[in-house]
Amino acid sequence: MKHQLWNYMLIAATVLSTTESVQAQIPSMRYQLDMSQPHTHLFEVEITLDGLAKNEKTVDFIMPVWRSGRYVLFDFAGGVQEFSAEANNVTLPWRKTDKSTWRVENNGGAKVTVRYKVYANEFEQRTRGLNDRHGFVDASAVLMYIEKLRRLPLQLHVQPFGDWHVTTGLEAVAGQQNLFRAPNYDYLADCPLEIGTHKDFDFAAEGKPHRLMIYGEGNWDAPKMIEDLKKIVKACREFWGELPYEHYTFMLHCTPAGGGGTEHINSTIMGTRPYIFREPASYRGFIGLAMHEFFHTWNVKQLRPAGIMPYDFTKENYTEELWLAEGGTDYYTMMLTRRAGFNTVDQMFEALATLIRNVKARPGRNIQSVAESSFDAWVKLWKNLPNAFNAEVDYYEKGEQVSLLLDLEIRQRSENHASFDEAMRALYKKFPLGKKGYTNADVQKAAEELTQSSFAEFFRDYIYGKKEIDFAGFLGYAGLEVIEKKRDNVAPDLGILVVPTGERSIIRRVTAGSAAQAAGLDLGDELLALNGKRVRSSDLNERLKDYKPDDKVKLTVFRDEQLREFEITLQAAAPDYQVQRVKEPNALQKKIYSLWLGSEWPEEKTADGKD
Ligand SMILES: [Zn+2]
Repeated sequence: MKHQLWNYMLIAATVLSTTESVQAQIPSMRYQLDMSQPHTHLFEVEITLDGLAKNEKTVDFIMPVWRSGRYVLFDFAGGVQEFSAEANNVTLPWRKTDKSTWRVENNGGAKVTVRYKVYANEFEQRTRGLNDRHGFVDASAVLMYIEKLRRLPLQLHVQPFGDWHVTTGLEAVAGQQNLFRAPNYDYLADCPLEIGTHKDFDFAAEGKPHRLMIYGEGNWDAPKMIEDLKKIVKACREFWGELPYEHYTFMLHCTPAGGGGTEHINSTIMGTRPYIFREPASYRGFIGLAMHEFFHTWNVKQLRPAGIMPYDFTKENYTEELWLAEGGTDYYTMMLTRRAGFNTVDQMFEALATLIRNVKARPGRNIQSVAESSFDAWVKLWKNLPNAFNAEVDYYEKGEQVSLLLDLEIRQRSENHASFDEAMRALYKKFPLGKKGYTNADVQKAAEELTQSSFAEFFRDYIYGKKEIDFAGFLGYAGLEVIEKKRDNVAPDLGILVVPTGERSIIRRVTAGSAAQAAGLDLGDELLALNGKRVRSSDLNERLKDYKPDDKVKLTVFRDEQLREFEITLQAAAPDYQVQRVKEPNALQKKIYSLWLGSEWPEEKTADGKD
């Protein structure tokens, strides 16, 4: 595709150099976005092209099939209606050539205008939304592109509804209201727009202008959030060494459905529930979200896996590296929130224990590698398949785990003269945006260059393989130990996840290898009774506390309207894990600990009070 474009630009340049055509030029592209009736959820789009080459008889307008940040296909084209095309007030014929392509017959004319509407009612996907309160646009879900013109500059004019205003990472055209420009379509698609009566708060951080935009009511405290966002900007700038943008916009939707975020080139769109900002634990969740999205400004928006550089908006973009793009971002979210002082060391240990608990609970770790999980994101992770827990790993969570291992392994082998931080920075320098992306082999090479030793086995075992992770061994490098604890007062384990659904309690997950699976329980079974007495999801756990491991119980369920009974031998609940410092650390352990966690090893006082 790149070659096609260069050909196009060469043709344009050649035409320019001939006497034949003084007016032949690089075509201009202007998008117009209207929203005259927001309660209908319909955006009105107009795209005007001018200066098209005479030898082109048709122009293909393409709606992307995915948006960056979520590696799954969407049906954006499905929301398009009332498409039309004209030039100089003459209607042009068009037809669709595939689900996402509208081919307009301009017959060599220099100018083409197309108009269409887009039904936008999916704010929670962070793709497109419009209602009588506000509008949100990720251009890949609303604005079509022309492949041959995709790398040319363009303008977007927005006509907000009523007294609404626009907030976006796009550059505004000086002196023009709501007129923005982008160097190319990919940039436009990486600068979402919020249109409404939201609040904007400008602030400076690390010498550059930043903006916090908040849509929605809630118990947020903008000055406090800004102070914390400044710490996030500082932590990331110190990590990467620079800010790769001129200005940055944090966009926040506070809505009951809120949850999650998407990174963009110089902005992020985040969603939270409105009243999470007072309670320290839930506020830390918001800080983690902001740190994750902001860290992405480098890791995945600049430093990109080869498979998503450049984006192909027409189909799946395969990559085996999402474990680093996402899981690595999760790992550094944990590390930088610690180093920036948002979490205590004890909270970090608890986060590590949770990570260990999660990996050990998930049977999918024995079925799928994290490279496979990355590659198959398009057909597995984002599809929430019913068997995901048993057959998949999550490239976020497993990616975080292997990033942790890589960091500790590099620190151990280099006697803490190097770290994964440096590997990330080396990759960032080596793979600048717009050139080529990196592969797992490049990540392996970066680790090897820092340690002058082979990481072939590491990548074989943990990236491409499913080797059980020895957390105790790796954490031991930093003077930590993992204590396996038997849990008191916990019910024996059945191995099912029961979810209340109206009045009914439905089995939504049967863990592979569990007592429930061995006994024959199935997804969709409606739980009715335990040993002949009514049981519901809300009291199942409490009822199981009456029993011990190896006890036999009878579960009665409805399956396809048939009453069925299963006898189950209960298993002991999984142990709990605790991460703590070893009693007698050596010098290297203390050194790794302090540089890794950004906190000195605490020297405990001896019994007689002397240090
Ligand atoms: Zn992410």
